[in-house]
Amino acid sequence: MAFNVVGIGMANVVARWRFDVACNYLRNSDLAASIIEDLENAPEVITVRIGTGLEDAWIPPGLAAVNSGGTIEWHPTSTLTTLDTPANRPVAPWLGRGGTRHGLQSSALGLFHEMVHALQYLANAAQMVGPGVNVLNVENFVVQGVEATVARELTSAGHIEGVRWHYHDVV
Ligand SMILES: [Zn+2]
Repeated sequence: MAFNVVGIGMANVVARWRFDVACNYLRNSDLAASIIEDLENAPEVITVRIGTGLEDAWIPPGLAAVNSGGTIEWHPTSTLTTLDTPANRPVAPWLGRGGTRHGLQSSALGLFHEMVHALQYLANAAQMVGPGVNVLNVENFVVQGVEATVARELTSAGHIEGVRWHYHDVV
């Protein structure tokens, strides 16, 4: 198990329960399930701090850290209001037509977004830390490459998740 779950202002066992509930929900998406499995099987440890006083974030490991995938901070009831805008929507017939669509992303999907940052770091640390890092590119890889697909897979599975195609498409 590569996740070390720590409660901040809540018992560790409660934090672990919240984390497990979120992961079980996310596994309704095949893409999310495979990424969670990859991270669970990783030799590196990813610390997940959970608390209602935290803002969702992924923090890179310190230079002295060994076998670390960094730290995720997660607010377990936070949500994100998304804007699915035609200007940023990929041109694909299955996306349909229409104007800007508002949506709401669950707190679980917020956790998943940060998990993908950990995976980005484990896959190629240089794209995440150090000189020349383009933070907006990093974010848009997550949003366009993974998050939007997972949101659509969860919606197809009968859950409602807002979709955005650009990191800044939020309210
Ligand atoms: Zn991000």
